[in-house]
Amino acid sequence: MSILFSNDTIVASATPELKSALAIVRISGNDAIRFTSKLLREPEVLWSARSSTSIYSSIVDQAGIEVDDVIVNVYRAPRSFTGEELVEITCHGSPLISNQILDLLRLSGARMAESGEFSRRAFLHGKITLEDSEIIHARIASESNGQLRGAQLAIHQKYDRFREVYQAILECLALVNAQIDFGESDDIQISGLAEHVERVQAMIGTLLSLNETRKLNSGYFTIAFIGPPNVGKSSLFNKLLEFERSIVSEVPGTTRDYLEAFIRVGDHKIKIIDTAGLRETSEAIEARGIELGRSVNDLADLSILLTDPSTRHQLPQSADLVVHNKRDLDGWADGLTISAKTGAGVANLLSAIATCLLEFESGRSGLEISTSERSTLERALNWIKSASTVKELPLLAEDLRSAAQDVAILLGLNISEDTLNHIFLKMCIGK
Ligand code: GDP
Repeated sequence: MSILFSNDTIVASATPELKSALAIVRISGNDAIRFTSKLLREPEVLWSARSSTSIYSSIVDQAGIEVDDVIVNVYRAPRSFTGEELVEITCHGSPLISNQILDLLRLSGARMAESGEFSRRAFLHGKITLEDSEIIHARIASESNGQLRGAQLAIHQKYDRFREVYQAILECLALVNAQIDFGESDDIQISGLAEHVERVQAMIGTLLSLNETRKLNSGYFTIAFIGPPNVGKSSLFNKLLEFERSIVSEVPGTTRDYLEAFIRVGDHKIKIIDTAGLRETSEAIEARGIELGRSVNDLADLSILLTDPSTRHQLPQSADLVVHNKRDLDGWADGLTISAKTGAGVANLLSAIATCLLEFESGRSGLEISTSERSTLERALNWIKSASTVKELPLLAEDLRSAAQDVAILLGLNISEDTLNHIFLKMCIGK
C-alpha cells in the first residue's frame, strides 16, 4: 500500500529543533495511543482517556530511566486535526529530549512522518480543504502581518476563481445533459451554449495569464526605484537602508547593475531595487544595467520614479509613484517631495508606500497559481477548446466532463496521489 493511503502510525516533532521552553511531538494513526502509552510511567491512564483531555505524566526509557515530565494531549478519532487517533506530547524544549521521545516512539512501532503528512491525512479525512492547507502553510511561512494578509486574500481569491470556473463548466454540462436526455437529435441545438463555453475559456485564460503579469516574488513586495541617472536613486536606496550599500556618485551611470535589499515598512517586508539610470547610453555594460532595470521595473509590484530639479518638468516615463528628490536644491513643493541627502520627506514617502501597498493588497493581492495548477488548467483549457469545436453532442459532453474533472482536481475533489504529493510535500515535517 502506498504511504499516502496508509493509516499506519506516524510521528514527528511539531516544533523546530531548537532549545526553547517547550517542544511538541505529534503522533497520529490507529496506534497513536497504544504506542504513546508504552512510554509512560502509568500507561493505563492513557487507555481510557477521552478526546481533548490532557494528562500529566512521565516518559521513561526502556531501562525505566525518566526522560522528561510531559503533558500528553489526547484527541480521539475523528475529533482530531488529522481525523485519526492523535496524541501531542508537550515536553521540555530540548532537542535531546524530543529526539529521545521520537526514538522511543519509533521503537514502539511508529514511523517518521513525511513532510506535510499530518496535513495530508487531515485532508484525506475531510478535516481540512486544500484551501485550508494553503492557508496553514501561509500562516507559518509569512514573515509579516502584511504578507500574511496578502497571502490569505490571494489564496481565497484563487479558490473562488477555481470554484467559479468549475461551476461554469457544470452549468454547460447541465445544458448538454438536458439535450441528451430530452432532445430529439444528436446535433447540438442549445441556445447560448457557445457563449457559455467561450466564457469558461476566457475565465481559464485569465487565470493562466495571472503569473505572467506582475510579481517577481511571492512573500514580499518589490519596489523598484527608476528614473534618469543622477536623480538620487542610489542615495534614496541608501537612506532607506540606513547604510551605504549602493555606490553614490556624481558621475551619471554609476549604478551599472541593479541592487536589492530588504526593508520593513509597517507590517510589510519589502525588497527595494536600485535600478540603473534609464538614459540612453552607448556604453555596453551600462546599457545591460539599464535593460535589467527595465525588466525589474516591469516585474516590480510598485515602481517609484525619482526626479530632480533638471528632470521635474518633463517626466521621462510613467510609474506608480512619482517622487521629487533634491528639494533642498530648489525648494520644490509640489507633490511628494524629498531630499535623499537630508532625509527630509522620507517619512512621508514611507507612508505613501504603505498606502500603495494596502491598495495593492486589496486590489491586486498577488494572486498566483502554482506550476502544477497551471498545467491542470492548461489541460482543462484544451478540453474546453475541443468542446467549442466538436459537432456531436456525446463528444461535447465528454470534453466538458474531462474539463470539469481537471478543475475538480484543483479544488481537491478528484485528486490523484501524485497531485497530493506535490501539494503536501512542500510543507515541513510535523505539519
Ligand atoms: P542615481 O544615479 O539616480 O542613483 O543618483 P545618486 O544617488 O548616485 O546621486 C547622484 C548625485 O546626486 C550624488 O552626488 C548625490 O549626492 C546627489 N544627491 C542625491 N540626492 C540628493 C538630494 O536630495 N539633495 C542633493 N543636494 N543632492 C543629492
